[in-house]
Amino acid sequence: MQDMSTQFKKPVWELHARPIGANHEPWEPRAVEARSAIQAEAILRRDGYESILMSARRVDKIPDPRTPAKLKDPRCSRCGYQLSGLVIEESVVVCPECAFRQPVIVWHPDAALKRDSGSGILMVFAIIGMITVTLFLVLHAFAILL
Ligand SMILES: [Zn+2]
Repeated sequence: MQDMSTQFKKPVWELHARPIGANHEPWEPRAVEARSAIQAEAILRRDGYESILMSARRVDKIPDPRTPAKLKDPRCSRCGYQLSGLVIEESVVVCPECAFRQPVIVWHPDAALKRDSGSGILMVFAIIGMITVTLFLVLHAFAILL
């Protein structure tokens, strides 16, 4: 009879991976223990690697040791100044060299709300339209009375 520890052992997946943002580095195979290829990709991402899901294949080997990827230092996208160690405020780091407000988080709820101002403008037009129609109807009613 198969013992329980091997029965529930997760398979090992090998994916082509490289540190996130290291666009010029070659893809290297990395083996991770995971229930699925998608979970393997998520584990790699947590370790700082991007990977090609299409390259995922089950392998019969010991998973690679979980080592975090060496990520590049964050730099100002305008002048290239190194931003590591600076204070993040409202998901932005102000570059001390050129004063550019460098976003460091891709998604921010407040920023998403601000970006949604198109519907706010529509709402303003709708209100102006309603006021105009109301005024027109009131004035029309007065015109009939007079
Ligand atoms: Zn800068």
